[in-house]
Amino acid sequence: MLNGVHPWLFGLAILAVVSFIAIAAWTFKTKRSPKILPVLFLLIVTTLVIGYLTADSASKRDTQRFLHNNIELANLIAISTQNENHAQIRLDGSSTTAIQNIESSYAEMFKRRSSITGIQTIRKTPDGKFQPITRSGDNKIANGVIENPSTFAKAWEGSGQILLLDDKDSASVAAVPVTNSSRKVEALLLATFSGESYRSSQFDAQKGVITMTAILLLLTIFGGITGIQLIQTLAEARVARAELLLQGDRIREQMDIIAEKNQLMAASHDALAQANAKLQSLATLDGLTGVMNHRALMEFLSVHMKRNGVIGSPSSVILLDIDNFKQLNDQYGHMAGDEALRTIAQVLKQSCPKDAGVGRYGGEEFMMVLPGASESAAFAVAEELRRRIQMAKTSSRAVTASVGVSTVYSLSKSEQTLIDEADKAMYHSKQNGKNRVTHYGHGMLESA
Ligand code: GH3
Ligand code: MG
Ligand code: MG
Repeated sequence: MLNGVHPWLFGLAILAVVSFIAIAAWTFKTKRSPKILPVLFLLIVTTLVIGYLTADSASKRDTQRFLHNNIELANLIAISTQNENHAQIRLDGSSTTAIQNIESSYAEMFKRRSSITGIQTIRKTPDGKFQPITRSGDNKIANGVIENPSTFAKAWEGSGQILLLDDKDSASVAAVPVTNSSRKVEALLLATFSGESYRSSQFDAQKGVITMTAILLLLTIFGGITGIQLIQTLAEARVARAELLLQGDRIREQMDIIAEKNQLMAASHDALAQANAKLQSLATLDGLTGVMNHRALMEFLSVHMKRNGVIGSPSSVILLDIDNFKQLNDQYGHMAGDEALRTIAQVLKQSCPKDAGVGRYGGEEFMMVLPGASESAAFAVAEELRRRIQMAKTSSRAVTASVGVSTVYSLSKSEQTLIDEADKAMYHSKQNGKNRVTHYGHGMLESA
């Protein structure tokens, strides 16, 4: 089958198959993508087939060339033999010496041709068989072949003949008729050619093909491995990218959730702050009028009176009671009374100096605490309050208030004493016609 193809190509084919099986095993063992395997297999087979065909055709070409050369050589021998007209060759063998001479001269002549391995003369016996006259060199022609009358029939008829002895070895024999003077064929000169020298050149050609095939195979195999790796890497990269995108989505989702929660938290924080503020105001402010309630007012007085007392600064308190309020309630109703209280509280708040505090002492009585205010300063403020209350617009009728003021210097009195004094001063104002201000002490005599 592989006539003329070097057995190394077989070796290469076996190596390729083994490599392919190894790659396939490795691919499945490492769980890599086996998609490349059929392609790899096809590539290997194609490479081998092309290698085989190239080597085979190179070998056939060489054989053809070899045979062609032999024919040319045989023709050359025939022409020179016929031209020399060797009449002395006789069947009875009397001219054996002459034959030997011819033979040796041809042997000499073709000695330089390495492809000629043997020279031989044969003649035909009366029973029609061929018979060797002489033999020299390595003639690979078996006696049976020579003796067969049909073997050199064509040459005996007078024309040169080429006989392929060994197809594998490319050995062939050129039979050249040797004629006498009357151009009758007397003997045949056989030159045996060996393909040895051609085989070496043939091998050179095949070697090239095999080398090329081997390189192609290696490239195919390594290319296959690289291809598998590449496909795997690409697949992994695709998976990693998809995971990354998924993670990105998840992170975005989480961030959205966090942002939502943050908003909720901020909202609840605001609500809490509002509730706290409300709670604070509920705890410290009077529900009806919005000024400090009694408790907060007392706290304010205590803190500021002490603070100012420590640094030797005075504190004053203004206590005011709305005049004839019962009458207003009776006349215009409790709601109108409430409204009047809110209006007066508003007036007090707006008139309240910085650092001072105002609150509802109880019922229709209000108090303003003036930290750092002397008698005269407190009196002036009280007078201004009285005046503004009188001016204030209510839905019912104008209201007035009786005011009492007291002042403390350097913690000389308690808070309660201060309040009591203010109350007394206020009572003094009531007693003296209402809608007026009285400062406790000498102030009792100085009612406005
Ligand atoms: P005076 O000039 O002597 O102070 O007389 P007055 O009527 O103001 O004094 P009195 O103490 O006799 O009456 C106080 C009234 O204030 C009694 C009460 O009904 C009314 N009052 C107290 N708190 C409130 C309140 O929150 N709303 C209303 N509408 N009236 C109140
Ligand atoms: Mg009262
Ligand atoms: Mg009153």
